[in-house]
Formats: sequence, structure tokens, C-alpha cells
Amino acid sequence: MTNPTSFLPLALCVCCVAPAFGASTGPRFYGDPPDEHHAWAVHDGNRPQPTSVVPGTFSSPIQPGRPPSDAVILFDGTDLSKWQTDKGEPAKWVVRDGVMEVLPGSGQIRTRDRFGDCQLHIEWATPAKVEGDGQGRGNSGVFLMGRLEIQVLDSYNNATYADGHAGAYYGIQPPLALPVRAPGEWQVYDIVFRRPIYRDGKPVDLGYVTVFLNGVLVQDHTPIEGPGGHMGRTRPQPFPERGPLALQDHGNPTRFRNIWYRELPPRSTEGGTDGWLAAEAAMAKRKETAAAIRLDAEKLKDPENPVPQMLRLFESLLYEQEPAAMQEAQEMAARYIQMLQALPPDQLAGKRDQVRQLNDIFKYLTRFRIVPEPFEPRTVTESLIKAQGWDKRPR
Ligand code: MG
Repeated sequence: MTNPTSFLPLALCVCCVAPAFGASTGPRFYGDPPDEHHAWAVHDGNRPQPTSVVPGTFSSPIQPGRPPSDAVILFDGTDLSKWQTDKGEPAKWVVRDGVMEVLPGSGQIRTRDRFGDCQLHIEWATPAKVEGDGQGRGNSGVFLMGRLEIQVLDSYNNATYADGHAGAYYGIQPPLALPVRAPGEWQVYDIVFRRPIYRDGKPVDLGYVTVFLNGVLVQDHTPIEGPGGHMGRTRPQPFPERGPLALQDHGNPTRFRNIWYRELPPRSTEGGTDGWLAAEAAMAKRKETAAAIRLDAEKLKDPENPVPQMLRLFESLLYEQEPAAMQEAQEMAARYIQMLQALPPDQLAGKRDQVRQLNDIFKYLTRFRIVPEPFEPRTVTESLIKAQGWDKRPR
């Protein structure tokens, strides 16, 4: 058994113990702890940090912007190496002056990449010389997963059916507004797509598409009702996990530039571990986090200063009240208070801040029923604080 006096060199900011795993830091024993549907505490210092991304730049009428640093580039103005025909042959569309142009009659092109949930950026321009009308004017289309079409059309002073305008989820949902520029000018789509997810033949998430056209919201988290299409009504249905992005040849020499995407993290229904989770998924993630913290606690073992290990073990209990960790943490706390009680007054005086910090942690642990009550370490630190007058504001 560790000698209680080994707690003496307690030189530690007990509320800011940096973890050895992950990159997160922050306060501990602070926000509401994990619960049935949340694997993380509020303001959880163990929660993974967001990935750093260097943002891109916006496009101008004459020059495409720069994609963000983690984007997958599908077309940067140089060639069609990322694209092919439906038969897997090299794409025949024309590339010149940094843009690609539909070669009418050559057929749609599709990416060699296959992906599902994504943020997609794509810029397009219908021919400056206006020819045709309705659906015959500057028609092309962005087919997500090669299935549902976000319409590309010269909708500038061009009457057609509402669910066939630029910004429409074709055949399903008209755009909320028509923020189109004049023929020949560059237009910008920013699309967020979540495919439908089915399990055992039943939808667990219908899937959604959100579209900004020239920075204006035109599809607002619109539920996926199948691929849509011309004349026929489609119904919600399963999609595969991945598919190509396709661009339509509708017989008009519409142009495209600056095409990139970012794959999105899985939703909780697909194994994502952030945000609101099903109870089973939340507990699985909590157990995983608790195990990592227990391993970290083991690395903090130091007979000369056991408090960091003790606190890390208590921290693991927020995620999983694993019996062995509970017992070990409680024994360490018991030894700590024995040490405190054995200190001569002059040495105890030097422990004021540490005891107050630990008392706050012990209060947190009992408040959220992480440890069973009565919890003697809290009782002892509280009475010490009172007896020493450490709870009074200095004059
Ligand atoms: Mg079209």
C-alpha cells in the first residue's frame, strides 16, 4: 500500500489534467456528464478536436476560387482524367480555357470516384448565346450518386415547370427561389447531400439534400424521394453506399469549372460517434473512451504523486462505472484524505487551493452520482475547508 505521505508533493492544477490520448485539452469535471444518448460531457476535454482545414477562396466571375485544403478535386480546369463515359471510356467533353464543356450528343460523363454523403461544389454557365426555350435552354444536370438530379438550366427569363428550374431537385422539389445570373455568367452550386439509409428494408434516415445556388438557399434539407426524373413520380428507396457524380448531356453546350467535394463523416445511424446517439451506440463509445482513459491513468502512475492517476481514474467513471476502476479510485481517494488528516497545521495550510479544487471535483462526482454517497473524501475535504476558514472570501 502506498504511504499516505506520498501525496505530499501535490503540485498539480487538478482541474486541467491534460490527457495523454487524443489532442483535446480543457477543463475536467465541468459540464454535465455523458448520458444515455450522449457519449461526451458538455464541454468535454476528451472529445476529439475538429480537423484543421485551410479554407479556400470564393470565385469571381472571371476566376474560380481555391478549394479548401481537404477537398477532393474532380476538375481543376486542366483535364478530364477524373471523368469517364458510362461505358468507362475516356470522357469526350471539351476542355478549353480552364473549363469543360458538354459535347452535345457524346453522352453524360461520370466520375471515376464513387462517393455518397458529401459537400459538393460545382460551378456552371449556360451558353451566352440564348437558344431554345423551356427545358431546351442551357440544360444539363448534376446527378448525385448518378441518381437524383440537381437541375442545371438557363432559368433567366425562361418559363418552365417549377420542378425543372435551376436549383430544382428535378421532378421532386422546385427551388425555394430563383437566384440565377444571366446566360453565360458563372453560377455556383454548393450542395450538402446525405443519402438514404435503410436497414432490414426499413428507412432509418430518408436522406436529404441542401443546395445553395449563388449563395442563396434553394433546397432546404429536402428529403430524398428516390431519383426523381422526367414525368414519373419516384418514392423513397434505398441507395447504395457509393456512386459516381454524373453530369448530364442534354444537348446544350453548358460549361463547368471548379468541381470538388468533401466526404462527410458518418451519421450516428452509420457508426458516427458524435452528437445524439442511439443508447447502444452512446454506451459503446463511452466504454471505449473509459478504457482509453484507464490506460492513460496507468501511465500516470507515480508513487510520489498519485493524484493525477486518481483523478484520471475518477474521470473514466464519467463514461463507464467500471467496478475495478471505481474501487481503485476510491482507495486512492481514501489514502489521500488520510494523508491530509495526518498533516501538521503548517503543511496543511499550503494545501488550501489543492484541497478546494479536489473538493469541487468530489462535489461534481456526487452531484452526478458518479460515486455512491456518502462519499467520505468529499465529507473530509468539506469539513477541512470549513475548519480552516478556506470557504471565506479574503478581506
Ligand atoms: Mg437537366
